[in-house]
Amino acid sequence: MIRHNGASKKHKKYLTEKGEIMNNSSRKIEELIEKIAVFTENNGTGFTRFSYTDMDIEARRLIIEEMTTLNLDVYMDYLGNIFGRREGKNKAAPAILIGSHLDTVKDGGKYDGVAGVIAGIEVVRLLTEKNIETENPIEVIAFAEEEGGRFHSAFVGSNWIAGNIKDEDLSKYLDDNGVSIEEASKSLDVLNPIVKRCRRREINAKAMFELHCEQGTVLENEKISLGIVSSITGSSSFRVTLKGMANHAGTIPMNLRRDAFYGASLISVELNRYVKTFETHSVGTIGNICVKPNAYNIIPGEVSFSMDIRSLDENNMFSIINHMKTYIEKIALENKLDFEIKENHLEYPVKMSKELIDALVDNARNKSYSYKVMGSGAGHDTIVMNEICDTVMVFVPSKDGRSHCKEEYSSPRHIAMGCDIIMDTIIKI
Ligand SMILES: [Zn+2]
Repeated sequence: MIRHNGASKKHKKYLTEKGEIMNNSSRKIEELIEKIAVFTENNGTGFTRFSYTDMDIEARRLIIEEMTTLNLDVYMDYLGNIFGRREGKNKAAPAILIGSHLDTVKDGGKYDGVAGVIAGIEVVRLLTEKNIETENPIEVIAFAEEEGGRFHSAFVGSNWIAGNIKDEDLSKYLDDNGVSIEEASKSLDVLNPIVKRCRRREINAKAMFELHCEQGTVLENEKISLGIVSSITGSSSFRVTLKGMANHAGTIPMNLRRDAFYGASLISVELNRYVKTFETHSVGTIGNICVKPNAYNIIPGEVSFSMDIRSLDENNMFSIINHMKTYIEKIALENKLDFEIKENHLEYPVKMSKELIDALVDNARNKSYSYKVMGSGAGHDTIVMNEICDTVMVFVPSKDGRSHCKEEYSSPRHIAMGCDIIMDTIIKI
């Protein structure tokens, strides 16, 4: 853990000025968070803003107006990703992107996603207030449909930007009422008078910054203000099926059984034992267990279960996957079971840019903000944007580690600190 607390005497005068700047910044951030929070289907159980609904359109209108007030050139693509561009000294230079998503999960919180969009707006406001011109253009991004709350698929907006989702794919994303993304996103046309529309925006980017609430307890427990993310976890999930023979629980001696559940329980124990031997954040989970025939007096003839394996380190992730495949085969053989392992999904861990991490660390140290370089156990739009440019994330503490619920809270002051080091880093690079 790297930690830096307190300030030396020579920093004292500076801290007073910084304190004033910070207060102003925190206030602006808080105001904007509260303004956007109004645009949610709030029935007391949390904040819900699904893509292309009336609430989503009003939140977008507010973001577009905020960007326009800051003299940004505002564009919105077909799926509703919003880009606010502040020109650089060199107009042809690749842009620096800052942002996050505007949608929420069902009954979510006020901060997840929104904090990162507002951080982008605040960084641009600070640069303008201080009359700082940057070499590269800056684009604040508000991603559409990140959570998958309405169309049940995560990172749709960023995958559209990256070109991973094609025109012909749009009709395949359906909400619970059978409405496709293609159809639903037409509701955004009411915003056409206040924003430039494009089908898909050509992105020429140098770097992307995403500020996000941690959604965990690490920063709060260690009383640290900022997390500088070094990598985002890789994840994989498998469906494992073991087939033995269902038979009488009373008459069949133990040595003649082909008990599928016994095999599954050994696999569960081994997954937990083996994963715990890794130091870098790695986790393994057996879930969604289906036992047949699932009766008290019958030896289980068939068991299928999900096996979820995640790690911040690619080598560790594959070491666990390969170990478990070999172990499942061994257990099947020893217990006379047939087996099948089906891969459902596999995503590699994503490493953040070393240059950007180092610059953020330097700036946090210069400003005497406590920080920690850490991994992210959750996925974000940054994973997709990493295909396009160098990326990095800044985490702010989540109160009680709560997220995706109405209790979700991150302090505007921590968000302001995040904006401060992101701004310094943009100026530096
Ligand atoms: Zn989020």
